[in-house]
Amino acid sequence: MPQRWHRHWSWPALAAMAFCALVQAGHAVEADIDATTFLDQTERVRTSDHSRFVRMLGQIHSEAPSLTSGQQWHLRYLDAWQAAFQGDYGKANGMLRDVIDHSGDMTLIAKASALLMSNLGLDSRYEDAYTLANRLASDLPKITDKLARFTVLANLSQLHAFAGQYDLAIRYARMMEDTLPPGETLCNPLSMQVSALYASKKLTPSHPELQRAIDTCLAAGQPVFTNTMWLVKGNLYLDGNQPGQALDLLKRIMPSINANHYYSHMLAAQTELAQAHEKLGNDEGARKAALAAIAMSAPDDISELLKDAYEVLYRIEKKRGNASAALTYYEHYVAQDKSYLNDISARALAYEVARQHMLVQKLETEGLSKKNNILRLQQALDTKAVETSRLYILLLLVVLASIVLWLLRLKRSQLRFKKLSRHDGLTGILNHQHFVSEADRALHQLEKKLGTACLISIDLDHFKQINDTHGHAVGDAVLRQAAATCQQQLRPTDLFGRLGGEEFGILLIDCSRDQGKAIADRIRVAIETTPANEDGCVVSFSASVGLASTDTSGYGLQRLRREADAALYRAKRTGRNRVIADTENDGVVEA
Ligand code: GH3
Ligand code: MG
Ligand code: MG
Repeated sequence: MPQRWHRHWSWPALAAMAFCALVQAGHAVEADIDATTFLDQTERVRTSDHSRFVRMLGQIHSEAPSLTSGQQWHLRYLDAWQAAFQGDYGKANGMLRDVIDHSGDMTLIAKASALLMSNLGLDSRYEDAYTLANRLASDLPKITDKLARFTVLANLSQLHAFAGQYDLAIRYARMMEDTLPPGETLCNPLSMQVSALYASKKLTPSHPELQRAIDTCLAAGQPVFTNTMWLVKGNLYLDGNQPGQALDLLKRIMPSINANHYYSHMLAAQTELAQAHEKLGNDEGARKAALAAIAMSAPDDISELLKDAYEVLYRIEKKRGNASAALTYYEHYVAQDKSYLNDISARALAYEVARQHMLVQKLETEGLSKKNNILRLQQALDTKAVETSRLYILLLLVVLASIVLWLLRLKRSQLRFKKLSRHDGLTGILNHQHFVSEADRALHQLEKKLGTACLISIDLDHFKQINDTHGHAVGDAVLRQAAATCQQQLRPTDLFGRLGGEEFGILLIDCSRDQGKAIADRIRVAIETTPANEDGCVVSFSASVGLASTDTSGYGLQRLRREADAALYRAKRTGRNRVIADTENDGVVEA
């Protein structure tokens, strides 16, 4: 009698997980509690006391209009859970997607995603299931709520076991132990590990992990999980050719399985029962149990359990010589076996396809982010380049401005030096040298156009005495005042310079001898009547003036100067504070 249990993943063990992923110890529901607490309590008893769960769900529905939006979404999730429990995956999945897309509650979304993933697997929509599984696995670090994380891990473990990825399944189940939510026990994670171990053919009926899981789940008051473990143990007995032990076990657990009314468990229990009876030679018992298993399934159901049930029936009918019935059962057996094997391949293939999709997506995402990085770098470089060129332009402008400023300063200092080199430092009028050269040039021009000019020599009277009496500073102030007073009497075209000490020279251009004499006298009077004032020290002073004119002395500067000086000398000699023209005799022009 061929035994194939060991060849495949045990369907009831797996299916039970889908609903037990969120099991917590049941709590008594008290009256007069708020809706949120009532919803939480309802959720907690859904596997430990399923009939109570259904009652409580009905109770909440009667008060649904008064629930808040968050509570409505929680209720919707519980409704979906119940629909899935009843095998109505179409209804359940629609509600779960609604919760995932619209509730906005991260914990509820994680729980709904986990259940949806599980349902898709049970509904043979493997590619969708594994796509969702991959998404959930990559979202795992973001799921911080302990209960949601626990649920997701449970479903990831289950789905990976389903795809034949047992090591991964065990790893996810072990991770569950580290994220145990309050009120949760080790029953769930241990059961997951045992199921994966069983599927990978690493389990025996006496394996310590199996006993530990059974003990833990019993202590936690989790009949569905406990029954899953018992059914695994029953399978192991059958695999190990111990039908007596299997039958004893099944008889012991049957009341609990019937009480919980969980389809997968009932199907598994009947099939195991059929196999145990058959092995013990109780063909009628085996037939009854196998027919009971088939009776509770829908016509298009595919499962390893149905395959095994049909196989038992085929062998019994064959043994009894009912060729026609044997053939019918055999055809069913082959169809189930083929479909089941196809289903296994489909799961493995779907897992691979989803994995490849994810890898491609990851590569694309990485490619995109690389591209984005390059673009960002390019932009940064462009910005930097713009900034750099702006900086260069700014630098250039600064350099240019500095050069311009430097040139301006140079020019100014050149001009200052030029002015300094041409002007007398104390009085600001032309210095001797420049006066001479300018006067010479002007006289040459006048000579060309036969114009007239007068040269005036001025010498301050008794200046030494002023210095001696009032000090050098007052002497300087007198010199400055004398120059300023003279300047006020002159036209801009006249040349005026300091010839040395307290002597000044003036070339009155386009000026006749008589005009010159008048101006010279105006200057003399002005000097005499304009005292100098230095720090409150008021000093009056006078000057002697000699005049020479081109009319009588010609255009030669030397001669003009000589004759003006001679006239000045005469003015000094004749009593000072007076003007004498070159041709005049001493004392002719009076002060
Ligand atoms: P006179 O009436 O005959 O011209 O007599 P004076 O004292 O004016 O003539 P003198 O030539 O004896 O004196 C000129 C004095 O001028 C001598 C010199 O110390 C003084 N002196 C020359 N340059 C400056 C100057 O720049 N500042 C001052 N304070 N004194 C100067
Ligand atoms: Mg003098
Ligand atoms: Mg003098």
